[in-house]
Amino acid sequence: MAVGRFAPSPTGDLHLGNLRTALVAWLFARSAGSGFMVRMEDLDRVQASADHERSQLADLAALGLDWDGEVVRQSERFDRYEAAIAQLDAAGLTYPCSCTRREIREASAAPHGDPSPEGAYPGTCRDLTAAERAEQAASGRPLALRLRGPGTTVTVRDDLIGEVTALVDDVVLRRNDGVPAYNLAVVVDDAAQGVEQVVRADDLASSAPRQRHLAELLGLPPVAYAHVPLVLGPGGHRLAKRDGAVTLADQLARGRTPEAVVGILAQSLGLVADATPCRPADLVTRFDPTRIRPTPWTWSDTP
Ligand code: GLU
Repeated sequence: MAVGRFAPSPTGDLHLGNLRTALVAWLFARSAGSGFMVRMEDLDRVQASADHERSQLADLAALGLDWDGEVVRQSERFDRYEAAIAQLDAAGLTYPCSCTRREIREASAAPHGDPSPEGAYPGTCRDLTAAERAEQAASGRPLALRLRGPGTTVTVRDDLIGEVTALVDDVVLRRNDGVPAYNLAVVVDDAAQGVEQVVRADDLASSAPRQRHLAELLGLPPVAYAHVPLVLGPGGHRLAKRDGAVTLADQLARGRTPEAVVGILAQSLGLVADATPCRPADLVTRFDPTRIRPTPWTWSDTP
């Protein structure tokens, strides 16, 4: 059976933007008769918590978004990520990197350095000599592990926003605190869970080419992508807590029902003409992804 998923990070309450993405992911899956999974991306142990996980799941359930099987937690799957890293390592596709964020920024900005696109790793640790490697290992600096990326752009097709092209640089596979990196974990998990379509917010669209490349290197099947336009706060920035009543709990406290919230989200997406209260199940049979507006939705909190 085809499978879709929603993969929040349990680092706070879900806001309307997250809930809107979850609704779209659920509608894509359920309208196709597919399975739908929830995965907790809780690799960031400092911010992730069981309380946030509980409240996020409760919010999804309250809106009428159901899922199949047990919720998967990335924090419980390190062995799978390490197996994938070992596979890339055995293929000679990894190298240790001791660069700090600051060093990366400075190397990218240096006039004599290789011009590297915004945020791309400039390759400082990529081709060290044996002596430099030994020095790096002996330095006591925490080491991240990077992929020997192709350094070329990769294009993926997206079901909502068209083609996405991005540079696949030397992405981090394991962070210097020993935690597997997001891009690797996502690719490993989506394949392990049989996910065929990744639906998420479009601030992650530029990660899709890297993830496609990683999947290919690991011999995993490619997934389809649908990146949902962001929800912005009244100031034009990405929706945040300070923008007012942005969580389901806030909305309920204002007297709205979960159905009213679903109606607002469905209208914001262009799926229904007006924000009549409804359940996600009411939208399944008439879900038409081509109607989803490709532009961000600006939330303004008018009760
Ligand atoms: N955990 C990510 C987030 O909450 C989503 C990652 C993904 O869907 O690939 O933004």
